[in-house]
Amino acid sequence: AGHLLEVDDLRVEFGGDDGHTPVLRGVSWHVDRGETLAVLGESGSGKSLTAQVIMGILETPPARIAGGSVRWEGRDLLGLPEPARREIRGQGIGMVFQDALSALNPVLRVGPQIGETLRVRLGLSRREARERAIELMRQVRIPDAEQRYRQYPHHFSGGMRQRAVIAMALALSPDVLIADEPTTALDATVQVQILRLLQTLQSESGMGLVLISHDFGAVASIADRVAVMYAGRVVETGAVRDIFRRPAHPYTRALLDAVPRADRRAGQLAALPGQPPVLRKGATGCPFRSRCPMAEAVCEEREPALAEHAQGRWSACHLGKDVIAGVLPAHSRGH
Ligand code: SF4
Ligand code: MG
Repeated sequence: AGHLLEVDDLRVEFGGDDGHTPVLRGVSWHVDRGETLAVLGESGSGKSLTAQVIMGILETPPARIAGGSVRWEGRDLLGLPEPARREIRGQGIGMVFQDALSALNPVLRVGPQIGETLRVRLGLSRREARERAIELMRQVRIPDAEQRYRQYPHHFSGGMRQRAVIAMALALSPDVLIADEPTTALDATVQVQILRLLQTLQSESGMGLVLISHDFGAVASIADRVAVMYAGRVVETGAVRDIFRRPAHPYTRALLDAVPRADRRAGQLAALPGQPPVLRKGATGCPFRSRCPMAEAVCEEREPALAEHAQGRWSACHLGKDVIAGVLPAHSRGH
């Protein structure tokens, strides 16, 4: 059976006449109503780019879709004409963009900005749009919504602005909401509040939620499933509790080691040494090998495919079974 939103072996290249650089090298993940998927990875791993392809806002050229598909209710979005895609954008799939705080126009009042989409897309009258916008502001727990409706963005704190941006993304009641690093610009307490809000909104509406993040610890408690990206592809995917307990890829293990824990003093974060690879066409071997504490000769020769090493445990690592079993060199744990 198909999924509501499914990215399947998506490949994207950047470049011109002098050659193309692969940036997405076979990304696959899916989300259904009623669940939360966290897409995790360092910046540059292709998380946001995948979302841009889904929303149809990637500039082509310089980007070129080199293969794979994005299916919405079974239909390939990439082959649809722009009017059909526009209809899915907002109503089917809502998006909170990474630079969300700049999504509000500073010279316009907040409420009418939320209502704008309703007027343009649904043809609501000014008054209907106002009522619905206030309702949306209440839904995202903006206090005193009627008064807030008339205020300008600079009257809002960062957290309140983020709530307003989420309200805009929810205006057309999407079946899936994609939130790209929705808390990065906010301080720690507000981050927690916004993530809790997204979780609440997800469970109240039954929509699917895709949370793009670099912070495993922040999203672990609200995600059902996880897709970990590295160097333009998914290197591990599965249920969050399985992955949290026993990761099946050394990169995921490194991400988990970077999560602050109660048994670790502040500032004692385990940073992952090294840099993500520069992607080149025709490169061989596992792209994580220069940073991997487990790398072996085979890792130089072949790039591992995403394979199921145990029930529901998928990872792109030649030693996936050993990683799950916890057969790891001592220095990759602890600190
Ligand atoms: Fe490490 Fe090899 Fe697995 Fe790549 S394939 S993650 S280099 S052990
Ligand atoms: Mg990004």
